[in-house]
Amino acid sequence: MLTDIIACDVLIVGGGPAGLSVASHLGDEVHSIVVHQDAEIGLPVRTSGGTWKRDMEALGIPPQMYRVIDQLDFFSDNAEARFAVDDDKMAVMDVTAVYQHLASLSDGKRSELMTGAKFLSCIEQEDGQFLSQIRSRERGSFSILSAMVIDASGWQSAVIESLGLGRKPQRTGVGIEYEFPIGNFDPNRAVLFVGSSALTGYGWIFPTPGDRLRLGIGVIYPDTDLTPRQVMEDFKASGQAARYGIEIPQDYEVNAGIIPSEPYDPELVFGKVVRTGDSANFATPTVGEGIRIAVEYGRLLGAEVTAYLNGDDKALGRYEAAARQAFQRDYRFGFMVNTRIAGYSPERWDKSVERLGRLSEQEMTELVRSRFGWRTMARTVWLNIKAKISG
Ligand SMILES: Cc1cc2nc3c(=O)[nH]c(=O)nc-3n(C[C@H](O)[C@H](O)[C@H](O)COP(=O)(O)OP(=O)(O)OC[C@H]3O[C@@H](n4cnc5c(N)ncnc54)[C@H](O)[C@@H]3O)c2cc1C
Repeated sequence: MLTDIIACDVLIVGGGPAGLSVASHLGDEVHSIVVHQDAEIGLPVRTSGGTWKRDMEALGIPPQMYRVIDQLDFFSDNAEARFAVDDDKMAVMDVTAVYQHLASLSDGKRSELMTGAKFLSCIEQEDGQFLSQIRSRERGSFSILSAMVIDASGWQSAVIESLGLGRKPQRTGVGIEYEFPIGNFDPNRAVLFVGSSALTGYGWIFPTPGDRLRLGIGVIYPDTDLTPRQVMEDFKASGQAARYGIEIPQDYEVNAGIIPSEPYDPELVFGKVVRTGDSANFATPTVGEGIRIAVEYGRLLGAEVTAYLNGDDKALGRYEAAARQAFQRDYRFGFMVNTRIAGYSPERWDKSVERLGRLSEQEMTELVRSRFGWRTMARTVWLNIKAKISG
């Protein structure tokens, strides 16, 4: 009979990019278990994989797992801004391949990956250890006893919520994607669109390394009451697809996902419980890009958890401080932008896309990346004033 309680040093809840990256960067002596509710890593796809070439290189992602984008076009109902990207190139990942690659980085470590295993709840015991209830397709119900728990469960924030340390986000971005063969679409071009077909959010067209196209639209709840499926049906009926250079076939795969859309909260460490990735709201507030960030800060957390378990009491605080320094200021502005543009009318979007077209490639990239340096802010304000003066 299988034992009902399995012990380990660190339980990691969620086998997305954040949880897998924590596991891969724990020291060899640390025994960890990753519980992942889906049957496979990287499937079903719940994200669209837009990112940046320089980040993929810095994170050591094999180049065949992403496609580099040379042309980024923005559309609203009646305006467009086209950028031939020379310097900081965007990229689109094969999400499943990248996530499986991230999982493979734990090969040979004392890290056990349990797929099809759902974390249900957790209690802190008197001795300070955590007893978590897991339900698995393979093992049935069992418990994991661990010294630490990492919440890498994405928007579900399963651990934080179970321990009463926080709650699931009340405002979320919900996205739906149709995926189909690329056809005649330029394989190195990506499109972002706003306006009447994506009110409160935005849409995207991304070519993947596997010669497929991902056409997606994300909207924000509760800012809208339309379902993503309705939004997509309305988009199909609008005829805009042809304007962006695509034809939607009869058959396509459907991907869907959820992301937090709330102000950044810098509190990440709750004693021996730590959150990371989407459960810590790390994705950028302007476009909801979070994979590279989940990997980078997941790896940092893996290293700091190891230091902490080896007696360095300041290690978890360093992780929290590094994230605060990287995100707090930019994300405060980013969230203001997010809530403002969620209320834009199609006409307002036309003006904004016209203005976007006047930015340099670098300024556009910084806005998309939610980096609000003083130069970009000053230039954006100046363009606003100029637009008002010229009526
Ligand atoms: C529609 C959409 C489009 C997006 N597009 C992009 C993009 O183009 N580029 C980009 O960089 N980012 C994008 N993002 C954001 C990106 O997907 C996230 O920021 C990133 O996936 C966060 O990684 P994570 O590991 O923190 O969480 P997740 O990727 O959500 O992984 C968490 C995992 O935990 C599992 N889990 C949850 N609860 C439990 C439980 N109780 N027990 C066990 N397992 C559990 C889930 O099944 C999930 O697989 C998009 C998000 C959405 C929703």
